[in-house]
Amino acid sequence: MKQTILGFLSVWFILHFISWTQLSPFKTENHIMVVIDGVRFSESWGDEGHSNIPNQSQLMAPEGILFTRVFNKGLTRTISSHAALMTGFYEELENSGREYPGHPSIFQRWLKKTRTPGDKAWYIASKGKLAVLADTKDENWKGQFLPSQNCGIGGLGLDAGLGGKGYRSDAETWEQIRFILKEHRPRLMLVNFKDADTFGPNKTWEEYLEAIRQSDEYVYKLWQWIQSDDFYSKKTALYITSDHGRHLDNHEEGFLSHGDDCEGCQHVSLLALGPDFPKGMIITEKYETIDIPLTIGRMLGVDIPGSPGQIMRPLLSD
Ligand SMILES: [Zn+2]
Repeated sequence: MKQTILGFLSVWFILHFISWTQLSPFKTENHIMVVIDGVRFSESWGDEGHSNIPNQSQLMAPEGILFTRVFNKGLTRTISSHAALMTGFYEELENSGREYPGHPSIFQRWLKKTRTPGDKAWYIASKGKLAVLADTKDENWKGQFLPSQNCGIGGLGLDAGLGGKGYRSDAETWEQIRFILKEHRPRLMLVNFKDADTFGPNKTWEEYLEAIRQSDEYVYKLWQWIQSDDFYSKKTALYITSDHGRHLDNHEEGFLSHGDDCEGCQHVSLLALGPDFPKGMIITEKYETIDIPLTIGRMLGVDIPGSPGQIMRPLLSD
């Protein structure tokens, strides 16, 4: 009897060990999600000529899989929308960075499950207030298995109560991304580019479009860099999405604002490139932003119990 149990335990241990080390069904070892803050679908993939996203539409989409109907069905403001992308749950959170989300992020879940050091998971944002999403108010997780973070100017500290003083430009964030990728070799990373949401000082249509074009440049440079680096090349998935869109024209303040459940605010997209994904495929089936962390979690071997999201099957079908 004792021998049977021992035998069973050894087989279980060996299978478990093999499944974690060699038999992962995925080639992807690293996951990088880029959130381009506040891009309305009509100025990205919804624009027939894709004139503001030439790099993504001409050079990147043929290499990846595009989901054209992804919706944020939660509160379409920055903190809640990023929380949905990181935790797999919709929550109505205070939007200035004073409220932790009620659920742990996939960063925390992955770090706990794999016991990976925190400098292999990085959370980088142009907006300092987003630092609040690195942790949770869930008592079972609070303060534990935290990713490394680099958010805005001074992270949460400077931003709290100062209303946006802790923001930095996407150009500065881009420099941080390059440094962190080389220095720390993160295996799981989330990046927020804010300029398409805040755009220029005059809040003009042209400044908004220019910010989208600039973020299109950054994501292409990032993809090129991934291909050129031995650690990341052929082993890295890149996900490009938005947290929320902007109001439809002739609704509230139009492109100048966002935050309700109009089509303009809810409709975003996902472009995913990586060694496990089909190439040149366009998916028009409807998905939600909470499905993205659930799917990345599945690839990482991390479950999100209780999430109302679904796995994005086309990503895992190749
Ligand atoms: Zn709206």
